[in-house]
Amino acid sequence: MIDAANINRLAEMISKASRTAVVTHMKPDGDAIGSSLAMYRFLKEYTNGCPKIILNDPYPANLAFMVAADEENDILTFSEKQEDAREWIAEADLIICLDFNAFHRTDNMEQPLLNAKGTKVLIDHHLNPELKHFELAFSTQEISSASELLFHILKAMPQCNGSAANLPMAAAEALMTGMTTDTNNFNNSVYPSTFNMASELIAMGVDRDRILFNLFNQFGENRLRLLGTMLKDLLTITKDGVAYMVLDKNILEKYHVDEGDTEGFVNMPLSIRNVRMSLLLKEDGERVRVSIRSKKGVSANRCSRLHFNGGGHENAAGGRLYISKEISDISEAGKYVERHTHIFFTEENED
Ligand code: 5GP
Ligand code: MN
Repeated sequence: MIDAANINRLAEMISKASRTAVVTHMKPDGDAIGSSLAMYRFLKEYTNGCPKIILNDPYPANLAFMVAADEENDILTFSEKQEDAREWIAEADLIICLDFNAFHRTDNMEQPLLNAKGTKVLIDHHLNPELKHFELAFSTQEISSASELLFHILKAMPQCNGSAANLPMAAAEALMTGMTTDTNNFNNSVYPSTFNMASELIAMGVDRDRILFNLFNQFGENRLRLLGTMLKDLLTITKDGVAYMVLDKNILEKYHVDEGDTEGFVNMPLSIRNVRMSLLLKEDGERVRVSIRSKKGVSANRCSRLHFNGGGHENAAGGRLYISKEISDISEAGKYVERHTHIFFTEENED
């Protein structure tokens, strides 16, 4: 699955680096944080690459269990320490980009990354990677997650010599966590290689039960109360088989919704027989963030590209609407979804 020549090139780049930036997409999710931490921990254990993780936004509170206290100093967040983060990117001799396919997915870090002189490596599982920006790219869609891709890469590195057991335990745990969140705990995008990864990680002692406990049994009561309200009062299903829910800022405030609290909600309406696609919209300042999931045969990626300024995977995509551009007010978001998904299903869904 992984080209040996590319592993050799990566091994050489890593051995030469004395200052490394590990970066991932804005609003990082479990796969973004998991793959970044695993890369960081591998470099810390086995190299003199002096890694730091640079994030556009802070990681969500529900993923705080993934980060050790003594690692906090090596995570620079653009929204909190912009100058330090800019400087680290500009001065890094190696920049490892995880879980995104194009620099605009890093939001405020886009220009600093484009301007950076360091050698750039991509490790990603999205469609249409911007390969021209990278000296070396590991990119495939036939895989569950960036965390899984990184697992196979690190295992093949000389330091691990083909054996997952040689991964630092904390890196292994981060990889398991990232894969688990991106597959929705083995619900989607699972390949034979994904089970191999899980099997090898469990065999080396990764405590999967503890990861599941931290990921799925530690939410606040507010999250379930919000879900109840959403399913009862906010879920609309159109004649085209499109389910959508809009969370405006009032409801987000009322239920004290944190980043990460709504993880997984967008998938739920797909359990309904006649629903083909599900959208969750969240008001976020001047924009509305859109999550899209679809059943087999319907392209969430295509719908997002055509109507929601985004993209992603075939059946899981994201995008955004701009208030004052596509819609003038959050109250128009539902109508926008209905109109545009109708166009998508009646005029654009045949290739
Ligand atoms: P989510 O709904 O969880 O935010 O995103 C679903 C998937 O779509 C994720 O894999 C995410 O990386 C991808 N995604 C979200 N927003 C965008 C976007 O604007 N462009 C692209 N290309 N992918 C996106
Ligand atoms: Mn991912």
